[in-house]
Amino acid sequence: MSSVILVTGGSGLVGKAIEWVIENDKSERFGKKEGEQWIFLTSKDGDLRQREDTEAIFKKYKPTHVIHLAAVVGGLFKNMKYKLDMLRENMLINDNVLDVSKEFKVDKLVSCLSTCIFPDKTTYPIDETMVHDGPPHESNFGYAMAKRMIDVQNKAYNEQYGCNFTSVIPTNIFGPHDNYDLEDSHVLPGLTHKCYLAKKNNTPFIVGGTGKPLRQFIYSRDLAKLFIWVLREYKETEPIILSVGEKDEVSIKDVADAIVDAVGFQGEYSFDTTRADGQYKKTASNEKLLKYLPDFEFTPFNVGMYHFDIAVKESTQWFLENYETCRR
Ligand code: NDP
Repeated sequence: MSSVILVTGGSGLVGKAIEWVIENDKSERFGKKEGEQWIFLTSKDGDLRQREDTEAIFKKYKPTHVIHLAAVVGGLFKNMKYKLDMLRENMLINDNVLDVSKEFKVDKLVSCLSTCIFPDKTTYPIDETMVHDGPPHESNFGYAMAKRMIDVQNKAYNEQYGCNFTSVIPTNIFGPHDNYDLEDSHVLPGLTHKCYLAKKNNTPFIVGGTGKPLRQFIYSRDLAKLFIWVLREYKETEPIILSVGEKDEVSIKDVADAIVDAVGFQGEYSFDTTRADGQYKKTASNEKLLKYLPDFEFTPFNVGMYHFDIAVKESTQWFLENYETCRR
């Protein structure tokens, strides 16, 4: 059977990883199947905040399946400064993509939430049932509430129209094609860029905070495989957390050490403990994922932990090779 899979946000960190897996993975579960046509959209194909643009894209490609990644995304600074923009623009994009998917009778739609939408005051580990249990952290409530609404919309589209819409909840993502902007990026690409500049300019590499906070990181190409699995095999409307396990949480110091190693930095390296640490941890449970896919292999890491030696090296290598053209 032929299918057309439309990926919104196809030029971003996650979209590029899905494209990579579809082109390079030879396994039956994750690789490209016969009869499948994959379309990776960028904002140049149309502005998904606009209903007419969204309809024109769907009219052109007639997708049978949609992976919806497009979003206005940013680090702490952008989330705090542009709360209304993050709320409104993401709500517009999501409303258009979901409603036009319903209009065009798409067989399945998978959207992307984030662990930062969970309640600020919570118990650990966080699981899928807790999305709406209390207000999100004050710093990103605009982005978080727009994302939470996707889950509400999915349920309503399913109950009123029988639409097969669902969503996934990834933890921190990193990999090739990330945003390496020094002000407005996530922690791993931001530190990679900083470390690169310290090596180039022969200056100290100083990491903000104590290095103690714990985070779960997922390599974009592992996440991409899981997205493809969700599209093909996951049947629930309720979201599913896509993450490494609780035991694979790493500290910011682990991350910085892996980057220092990957960049080959040998200069002075320290932590600026006068800088804020942010939330100490946001541990998410991947129990639901493991019930479905007990044998999924995350890119391996040394000493029993997750993936940083291979994945950070691969990811850093990409940054070094694409320094002139990447987002920074
Ligand atoms: P990126 O910032 O790397 O990419 C964003 C994508 O959205 C780009 O392809 C961009 O197109 C597109 N886009 C933005 N605005 C519009 C618009 N108005 N119309 C059409 N396209 C638009 O995002 P990521 O790949 O990092 O994130 C993918 C998804 O994962 C998002 O939904 C995000 O919320 C979620 N997520 C991300 C995490 C992370 O650590 N990065 C963590 C958890 C969830 P263009 O390139 O042309 O601008």
